[in-house]
Amino acid sequence: MVRYVYDFTEGGRDLADLLGGKGANLAEMTRLGLPVPPGFIVSTAACRAFLATGAAPEGMSREVSRHLSAVESDAGRRLGQPDDPLLVSVRSGARFSMPGMMETVLDIGLNDASVRGLAKVSGNERFAWDSYRRLVQMFGSTVMGVDGALFDQVMTRLKEARGAPDDLHLDAADLAELVEGYQQLIHEVTGEYFPQSPAEQLRRAILAVFRSWNGGRARLYRRREHIPESLGTAVTVQRMVYGNLGRDSGSGVAFTRDPATGRPGLYGDYLPDAQGEDVVAGIRNTVPLAELERLDPRSYRQLHDHMRTLERHYRDMCDIEFTIERGTLWMLQTRVGKRTAEAAFVIASELADERLITREEGLARVSGDGLARLMFPRFDTSATGDPLAHGIAASPGAAVGAAVFDSAEAVRRAAAGDRVVLVRQETTPDDLPGMVAAQAVLTSRGGKTSHAAVVARGMGKVCVCGAEELTVDTAAKCFTTKGGAVVEEGTVISVDGSAGAMYAGAAPLVDSAVMRHLETGERTGGVVDAVADALRLADDVRRLEVRANADTPADAARARRFGAQGIGLCRTEHMFLGERRTLVEEMILARDAAGRDRVLDALLHLQRQDFVGILAAMDGLPVTIRLLDPPLHEFLPDRTELALRVGVAEARGEQPDPRDAELLDAVRRMHEENPMLGLRGVRLGLVVPGLFAVQVRAVAEAVVERTRAGGSPKAEIMVPLVGDVTELRLVREEAEQVLARVADTSGIPVHCPVGTMIELPRAALTAGRIAEEAEFFSFGTNDLTQTTWGFSRDDVEAAFFSAYLDKGVFAASPFETIDREGVGRLVGIAVREGRAARPDLKIGVCGEHGGDPGSVHFFHAAGLDYVSCSPFRVPVARLEAGRATG
Ligand code: ADP
Ligand code: MG
Ligand code: MG
Repeated sequence: MVRYVYDFTEGGRDLADLLGGKGANLAEMTRLGLPVPPGFIVSTAACRAFLATGAAPEGMSREVSRHLSAVESDAGRRLGQPDDPLLVSVRSGARFSMPGMMETVLDIGLNDASVRGLAKVSGNERFAWDSYRRLVQMFGSTVMGVDGALFDQVMTRLKEARGAPDDLHLDAADLAELVEGYQQLIHEVTGEYFPQSPAEQLRRAILAVFRSWNGGRARLYRRREHIPESLGTAVTVQRMVYGNLGRDSGSGVAFTRDPATGRPGLYGDYLPDAQGEDVVAGIRNTVPLAELERLDPRSYRQLHDHMRTLERHYRDMCDIEFTIERGTLWMLQTRVGKRTAEAAFVIASELADERLITREEGLARVSGDGLARLMFPRFDTSATGDPLAHGIAASPGAAVGAAVFDSAEAVRRAAAGDRVVLVRQETTPDDLPGMVAAQAVLTSRGGKTSHAAVVARGMGKVCVCGAEELTVDTAAKCFTTKGGAVVEEGTVISVDGSAGAMYAGAAPLVDSAVMRHLETGERTGGVVDAVADALRLADDVRRLEVRANADTPADAARARRFGAQGIGLCRTEHMFLGERRTLVEEMILARDAAGRDRVLDALLHLQRQDFVGILAAMDGLPVTIRLLDPPLHEFLPDRTELALRVGVAEARGEQPDPRDAELLDAVRRMHEENPMLGLRGVRLGLVVPGLFAVQVRAVAEAVVERTRAGGSPKAEIMVPLVGDVTELRLVREEAEQVLARVADTSGIPVHCPVGTMIELPRAALTAGRIAEEAEFFSFGTNDLTQTTWGFSRDDVEAAFFSAYLDKGVFAASPFETIDREGVGRLVGIAVREGRAARPDLKIGVCGEHGGDPGSVHFFHAAGLDYVSCSPFRVPVARLEAGRATG
């Protein structure tokens, strides 16, 4: 029989697919014997069924009633029982944590009658009405669809009428009035009454949480985090415990280690006399967890012990939500905590030092994306002057942008290409689009666990929160500093998320310590050592070699310092640019072989020097040099410009510059409708006499020169855009003649393997034939992606990629991370058939995907020998190649 509901005592974290992360971990904590209010979980399967059909699946509500009865008999009272009501929360929770993205309704079971019962049994009338107004507000907005801002207006009006600075200054009678105002509002807006039946409240709240899976915020978050649309959310129903029962009660959130730096030691925020949501919402300022030790030492000690238990059990840093009800501690949530990149490296390394995990497990817990983030520069604080304001360092990094005060403005300006900093008192999930668009987020309220902080950390976005010295006026679009300076919308500010500071203007930047280490090998402790250890382990275990794409000696040298084991792609086209452009023009315009040879000879000398420099920088390591790839007309002047020059001269009745006229002729002749699929790559080599031969000769002579200088040059010659074995054979035969001739004349043996790029579907499909002529393959996954999908990157990214991501055609752009299903399949075929024909075939990949973490894992699994990527991605690829072996 299908079942949809599980008690906390039945589940565990291994059931997270079914129970969602929150539910599964509540069950896990229950099993560990931690104090968790009893409850049960409606599974994600029920949610999926509901979303598919629009109705709760058969039998679900019977199961809910049965499990509710168990919670009721445990508590000794019924849901909403008028004289002593049991209240429950109805909580969302998907497989992957989506903090604040879906809905939760607290205090279900209160109505006009049971609120009085609750007041009586608790002996606290204010608390009862406060809980009731929370229920009506949350139910009204989440379940009945009334705009949340309307409730705020009712609240603000009442506070103003009473002269109350915050909600703590409203008494029971005020709150009762508020409940009435809220109920009227609901009726006015929806034509419906707030349901008095506890059972109906529960039923509708469950379905509303299901529906919240498809809310706008949740969808946006999933797209960003690559969480599949199909999973659905589970719903947890749990007995309420009350943090808002007075000063001996409260709620908090805590981390077992500092989520920003990874330093050991409890870390968190506590809010006395509050329900859990107040902590995250930042409506009042929290106190640090250390303060709880003073307020309630017994609960603090228990909390401390439970957190140790959790960290040992999960073998990782955990975050938790807890509530203290009149001196009794309750655990309300835990999960392996989100953390910054810095904290990820530090925690992995410390947990391994503590022998809680192995070094290999530590490696699995850091990421190339995180490493890339740590390589970014920081502000040079010796040159910034004093900060305009201090706040909490919630998410590290340095960002500069124009201050904006609402999400829509942030989105608008970012779309226009501006860098912006979103400044708010606090953020809510509605600010998500603005946070995505902004370089940084700055808030005047809330702690390290506020919405702004948690979401920004998840995105790797710079965030400073709780900058209390600032008065943010969103209506007037400005903020005022303690010193009285007023900063208006559009003013450039700098936000330092590592130090928790904000500066006026654009602050100067300095390199990161991690970057310095990568450049120099210098070890300075902390995160630098953690990164160095992780990279060393990755180098020890990885099978994939890592090369760099580098076209200049300077890039080659940097790549080598970053640990590159060679160059996987040296493009030769930039060697045809700049002053040499005129040489290319002359070559194209040359009327006879003699003229062309003269130009090629000039190019030969220049190219040889280029190659000598690169081979020197990479001495002893392989350097794969790709013969000219782009269409020749890319090196000619712009057609429109030329036509204009010639046209203007003619219109004036003058004789156009003969060279212009000649060039225009050539440009017109060579114009292509679709250059990506035109005369380029090997096709050029086969139709422009002498072009490839001269490049090969430059390579060979550079090898000779380096050998004579005592070096150990290892050049490889790579032919682009081959689709058929004959193309490669023709180029290869010519190349080998050139190599032999250079060896003969110089008396120095020149061995340069000749291989090809695999970047056309036909090449992949005929790889067995091509391997007969190729000593190595290198997948050009950019072109292979373009030609497999039949779209050109330059034309489609702006045109429809965001629509495709929206509609779920792509989970990620196939240019960022390899399309395993299609392009990946071609890679698999080419590897298999290439190696079958030539067992010692060396196979690599050059192209952006070589530095993309997900793609690196794929290339490892596909059996490639190396990946090649831009110099700055080399450390990332090393780390991921190591992680891929795990
Ligand atoms: P989110 O996923 O947005 O954090 P939660 O389901 O965790 O939503 O709930 C929101 C807040 O309500 C949290 O602070 C949580 O601790 C609190 N809360 C949830 N259930 C209960 C309960 N049964 N008793 C007391 N507080 C609760
Ligand atoms: Mg929560
Ligand atoms: Mg290509």
